[in-house]
Amino acid sequence: MSAYRPLLRLLRHGTAAARVCRTVTTWSPVGAAFNAKVQRRLDLFQQNVGLFGVPELSSIEGFEVVQDRALQETEQLVEKACRCPPGVQTVEIFDKLSDSLCRVADMADFIKVAHPNPSYREAAERTCINIGTMVERLNTNVELCKSLKDLLDNKEIFAKLDPETRRVAELFMFDFEISGIHLDKKKRKEAVNLNVKLLDLSNQFLMSCHMPNRIEKRVLPEHIHQHFSKDGKYIQISGLHADAPDDLVREVAYKIFLYPNANVMHILEELLACRDKLARLVGYESYAHRALKGTMAKSPEAVMSFLQQITDKLSDRLRQDKDFEMMTEMKTKLNPRNSELMPWDHPYFSGVIRAERFNIEPSLYSPYFSLGACMEGLNGLFTQLYGVSLLAEQPSVGEVWSEDVRKLAVVHETEGLLGYIYCDFFYRPEKPPQDCHFTIRGGRQLDDGQYQLPMVVLMLNLPHPTQSAPTLLSPGMMENLFHEMGHAMHSMLGRTRYQHVTGTRCSTDFAEVPSILMEYFATDYRVISQFARHYQTGQPLPQSMVARLCESKKVCGAADTQLQVFYAILDQVYHGKPQNRSTTDIMIDMQKKYYGLPYVTNTAWQLRFSHLVGYGAKYYSYLMSRAVASMVWKQCFYKDPLNRETGERYRREMLAHGGGKEPMLMVEGMLQKRPSIEDFVNALVSDLDPDFETFIMDSEG
Ligand SMILES: [Zn+2]
Repeated sequence: MSAYRPLLRLLRHGTAAARVCRTVTTWSPVGAAFNAKVQRRLDLFQQNVGLFGVPELSSIEGFEVVQDRALQETEQLVEKACRCPPGVQTVEIFDKLSDSLCRVADMADFIKVAHPNPSYREAAERTCINIGTMVERLNTNVELCKSLKDLLDNKEIFAKLDPETRRVAELFMFDFEISGIHLDKKKRKEAVNLNVKLLDLSNQFLMSCHMPNRIEKRVLPEHIHQHFSKDGKYIQISGLHADAPDDLVREVAYKIFLYPNANVMHILEELLACRDKLARLVGYESYAHRALKGTMAKSPEAVMSFLQQITDKLSDRLRQDKDFEMMTEMKTKLNPRNSELMPWDHPYFSGVIRAERFNIEPSLYSPYFSLGACMEGLNGLFTQLYGVSLLAEQPSVGEVWSEDVRKLAVVHETEGLLGYIYCDFFYRPEKPPQDCHFTIRGGRQLDDGQYQLPMVVLMLNLPHPTQSAPTLLSPGMMENLFHEMGHAMHSMLGRTRYQHVTGTRCSTDFAEVPSILMEYFATDYRVISQFARHYQTGQPLPQSMVARLCESKKVCGAADTQLQVFYAILDQVYHGKPQNRSTTDIMIDMQKKYYGLPYVTNTAWQLRFSHLVGYGAKYYSYLMSRAVASMVWKQCFYKDPLNRETGERYRREMLAHGGGKEPMLMVEGMLQKRPSIEDFVNALVSDLDPDFETFIMDSEG
């Protein structure tokens, strides 16, 4: 979820510093692979192996070939599933079916957003649509569903299955349920129609979330025109400009970008109404009840209690830390005439206060975080924790979509090769702006006893290296890299029997635990000191600088967390029992109770809340994952973050299972007790406690 994480800013390299280019540091192979320029090879006589080593994908036409083969395989597997007597084979066939479709769809899903060649992107897009149509057909295939239901209904056979197989069978059934397949013909038809309508409404809402609003130029004072793009006699406003130092720019952007559009309002209200109708049709109390089945939180009541308890705890904290008072003070200092703190001020002033108090200018840090150094750090960390190395491998001709993509083989000291990570790290204009990871192929047990190796892509938007310097990361970028590598290792270290539950294919509120845990490693001096060294001088990063960085994050942390709680509550209420009032009225009410800064008339922030589509009723996930990661860090790793035994235990209890085990059982296994909601809340809030050692260290110079 990008909303919670700091905005990335591209680094500008000072030319004076860039001219000093003597490199005194030497890098290990993985470090060198990321700090050195790509060597172009002469590939004249080598055969194109196709994208991700799929031979057909050496040409655009190949997408259709691969897609048709998957569709054919699907037909055969469907037939097989329907003929097979209920047993473990039922689940195995379902997983094969899902594997052959996912392998094509997931790969195409990635290519359609990341390939530099638009023809590839279009071909991939068509493939996605065709596979999607097939999936829809399968989800409403009564006979196919019956073969699974026969297994679930046969108590005797079902009880004999191993827990992972049982869980996967239930997860497959859950996917069927939403299409109303267990209902009578009339209701089933209604469910199908609702699903079609929902797909359309979701797309419409997503598109309008990012649509700019415009206003006539003459309405705005001339001196701020330059901050926005122009369109004839109009000014286009396509975002909140939350980082703009000029109060008026932020205010104007906020009021115009969030100005309600009646049509979009209608789309959102329809979307929520349809979701509610569908959930109730297939047998749930509300959409939230359905969405939360199988998650760590389990029920909307638990989520609300979690969010309410955070609010209660934070209200003391907000009084004590005076986050909003500090921001108001800062605003008054800079602009005495207009000093009421407004929602457009919060992100900006918390940043200003942090920077002023802690001197954390990113360019002071980035020379210590060259990309190669960070990759060495990750390699060292994984070697110590899990006995796993990252080995840079030269991709074959045609295997990757852009020349600067690096391929890493993940190798365990006794188990051998665990999988591949493709690192697509550098900025390209066609890439989506958020950092993210893609599962290209899930791990699974094959019939011949081998293991299908997982493959993932990590996508970042880092600046390219220059003539004189490798890519240098700001602290925020470094943390993002660690975060995304946490997702990748979830896939690499998992050994699930089924690909349906490989790595990150787990409950949404558990999925961010491994990645957020990596952020704790990325901000611990004992870990950082192992790799952060100046790319020119080889000097280590001073401990006091790391401490300042960590403390700076806590400043205004209560206010930032409270804002996330407000968003999460809004998402819960929208997906709970329908209310007889508009989404705006609900928002005004929740903002008053759960935020603190005033509502601005004639704005409707919810119409820009695009996560309502993808996370519907699960926006709380990030906060809950953070709470669990915090508990795991403090209880297991804090004492000795590089301890091999703890690393192994963490892999065994949490990472190995992907989504194949109930998430709370994994947490319980790791912490050796079942944490309560209160434990979650305490962990989250105590992360905001200042570390007094830092202040002592800083005053000693
Ligand atoms: Zn993540």
